[in-house]
Amino acid sequence: VSTTAKPDISREKSAELYEKAKTYFPGGVNSPVRAFKSVYGTPLFIQKGDGCHVWDADGNQFIDFCCSWGPLILGHNNAKVREKVVETIQNGMSFGAPTALENELAELILKNNKYIEKIRFVSSGTEAVMSAIRLARGYTKRDKILKFEGCYHGHSDSLLVKAGSGLVTFGETSSAGVPKSFADETIVVSLNDKEALQKAFKEFKDQIAAVIIEPIPANNGLLLQHKEYLQFLREICTANGTMLIFDEVISGFRVGFEGAAGYYQIQPDIITYGKIIGGGMPVGAYGASAQIMDHISPVGSVYQAGTLSGNPVAMGAGIAQITELLRMGFYRDLNNKAQEFAEAIQRFATARNYKLKVFSIGSIFWFAFTDKDIRTAEDIDPQSMEKFKKMHRELLNRGVYFGPSGYEVGFISSAHTKTDLEKAKRAIFDSLDVVFR
Ligand code: PLP
Repeated sequence: VSTTAKPDISREKSAELYEKAKTYFPGGVNSPVRAFKSVYGTPLFIQKGDGCHVWDADGNQFIDFCCSWGPLILGHNNAKVREKVVETIQNGMSFGAPTALENELAELILKNNKYIEKIRFVSSGTEAVMSAIRLARGYTKRDKILKFEGCYHGHSDSLLVKAGSGLVTFGETSSAGVPKSFADETIVVSLNDKEALQKAFKEFKDQIAAVIIEPIPANNGLLLQHKEYLQFLREICTANGTMLIFDEVISGFRVGFEGAAGYYQIQPDIITYGKIIGGGMPVGAYGASAQIMDHISPVGSVYQAGTLSGNPVAMGAGIAQITELLRMGFYRDLNNKAQEFAEAIQRFATARNYKLKVFSIGSIFWFAFTDKDIRTAEDIDPQSMEKFKKMHRELLNRGVYFGPSGYEVGFISSAHTKTDLEKAKRAIFDSLDVVFR
């Protein structure tokens, strides 16, 4: 074990590409987190991926724990997914008319997920959530929604809202360009706080259309909630005629085929999906009971549409990936492997008295540089991110790629072999020794 920092890998070609990209795109990127603002150096431009590995433009090879932020549960360039995409493309790429592929993907999902009866495919997680919110508002004929500080639901106006001060607040916009009047329709409370929720329902009686939560909050660290708290949410929503929306864009098909709903055995009113459902292609979806879903256009009065919705190539990728997930023992094997990995890192840190907690569920994990239990966004000390920043650099220099922010979780895919995970563990141990030296 070495406690000396490794020399930096060559990033010359990536840096060159980044300079060029900055002349084309705001900040040089097409999605902000990619800009490496919270870690050292400039973004790595990825050239290819295969299995659990990615290679950058300079030819550096990494074991990847970002996995495209979650979709790649089978790893990069999975042969079955690729072959299905190639086969589908032979017949054209988009028709704007129904295809049998949509039925096939829907059938695979609905037959194996008892928490939804009908589904609508869209093209991103943001779109799925935005549509689910509209459905809840149309269904309940109410305007307000309630979200939780620390949960991310994409970049639509009503959801780019953070908590103001006080126990129960109207939200404040967290982006320029979101009208205050939109934020006024969004109530924000802390996670894991029953009292705040009760107060909100009292203050805004008969006005809340939906409570939306990531049942496994994974966008601001991994803020695991107690099952009993999620059950409380279910009960308070039912008692108030409010819809409960589980945003399962990350947890869906990740912690198990039935996502967090299945994991906790809680029936939400609407569920949103994204990421894994499209096998790496741009797909999102939302689902609910047939009775609720029939409020959507063209049968119902809630309008929602999309030129590329249910795109055949994306459906093909989804079909191939979802079929693999349905194989016996898929989640058992993946989750066991991931738990062993997380536990080994925790044991290492504990043995050395390093202030590190490894939170994990299924094949999602998060390193928190703390010795405290963390359940809410407010529990995270922003100072601790300095340690992540150091670790990120050490890991890149040892051939391990994490998403470039300490608030982001890591993902393990079925393509991560035990040997890969052993290698990654060694790199993580060495990096931690440098960080805590
Ligand atoms: N909801 C959750 C829980 C997410 O994690 C994300 C993205 O990370 C979204 C919604 C938005 O999805 P997309 O980035 O596909 O628009």
